[in-house]
Amino acid sequence: MTSTSTSSPRDRRVSRRLGAIAESATLKVDAKAKALKAEGRPVIGFGAGEPDFPTPGYIVEAAVEACRDPKNHRYTPAGGLPELKKAIAAKTLRDSGYAVEPSQVLVTNGGKQAIYAAFAAMLDPGDEVIVPAPYWTTYPEAIALAGGVPVDVLADETQDYKVTVEQLEAARTPRTKVLLFVSPSNPTGSVYTAEEIRAIGQWVEDHDLWVLTDEIYEHLVYDGVDTGSMPTLCPFLADHCVVVNGVAKTYAMTGWRVGWMIGPADLVKAATNLQSHATSNVSNVAQRAALAAVEGDLTAVDEMKTAFDRRRTTIVEMLNEIDGVVCPTPHGAFYAYPSVKGLLGRDYPTDDGSVRIETSAELSEYILDRAEVAVVPGEAFGSPGYLRLSYALGDDDLVEGIGRLQKLFA
Ligand code: PMP
Repeated sequence: MTSTSTSSPRDRRVSRRLGAIAESATLKVDAKAKALKAEGRPVIGFGAGEPDFPTPGYIVEAAVEACRDPKNHRYTPAGGLPELKKAIAAKTLRDSGYAVEPSQVLVTNGGKQAIYAAFAAMLDPGDEVIVPAPYWTTYPEAIALAGGVPVDVLADETQDYKVTVEQLEAARTPRTKVLLFVSPSNPTGSVYTAEEIRAIGQWVEDHDLWVLTDEIYEHLVYDGVDTGSMPTLCPFLADHCVVVNGVAKTYAMTGWRVGWMIGPADLVKAATNLQSHATSNVSNVAQRAALAAVEGDLTAVDEMKTAFDRRRTTIVEMLNEIDGVVCPTPHGAFYAYPSVKGLLGRDYPTDDGSVRIETSAELSEYILDRAEVAVVPGEAFGSPGYLRLSYALGDDDLVEGIGRLQKLFA
């Protein structure tokens, strides 16, 4: 007789591990906005974290050529094309001053997969990862999938959304293994200065921790902020540091899906073994495109940066004109992260009366319904009371979209 108190294998349909994971909130908002747009509604999307520019022509050409070459029609080494790994090592030295061997590079299906692979390689069940909040929505899920426990440390707008060493120390326990670090940050656009990075790196070293530093927005820094790469500013960390990067943001290549992790060779080997079973090599055509990107110069990103910088000034100014909104000036990436706490706890008009809005999640739904503007609520980033707006959209749409918010909350 089987026990009746336990459910049958078929009742337990989805594993606890995956059952606990939420859909990416940012992709969800973007999908909803795109679906409404497809229905013909004039939605303006501030949801997606992707440049609105096409991939530069020379990169596209390299991919077209790669399609025609039969050697790219076959499996290649799971960890990445040797020439791409070499070029990524050279690019890392060029852009970050960090010297690494190609054997320390794993080419992944976007930076997202690098984060997943890195945590899978670093964490045992119960290991804690300190995650500064507001955080990008994928980090805690990737940590939990690897059996780890994310521990948030919240930094609000009064500290420019940047955590201090004192806050990190207060969150450290005997189970802490890794610090997640990202600068420039998604969702806040904050950039840590070289001095702040050095202090945090020293704290990591003092407590024998690992650090995963996400540098995907490395080239999108404004106002001449004095910053740098964690392992270059803290060379003593090299053996306990994983760098995540990719071509998505720098070269407007979000759809090509090429990223990488760089770390000590033993950790990278473990992550490569995982990839050899999970996905094998990243598409060779996309890898050839990425090769052209990282071997090329930074002209394209400089042009995009000029446009982002202009839009950044406009969006911050226009958001701060709304009573109840406080938007610090971000110095990197392409996100504005205003506090909307001053708009909450109020009644707002609807077609059949009014509605009281208490949370930023409700506010973002109201904004989409009434103004047809898509924004991501702070709940997605572990910090309710805020909205994230990507300013990687056309100047006219940006002004029209924020103009609608100004009218809605006038
Ligand atoms: N890190 C950060 C901070 C990001 O914002 C993103 C994309 N939103 C990624 C990594 C991953 O980018 P991708 O997988 O497209 O390379």
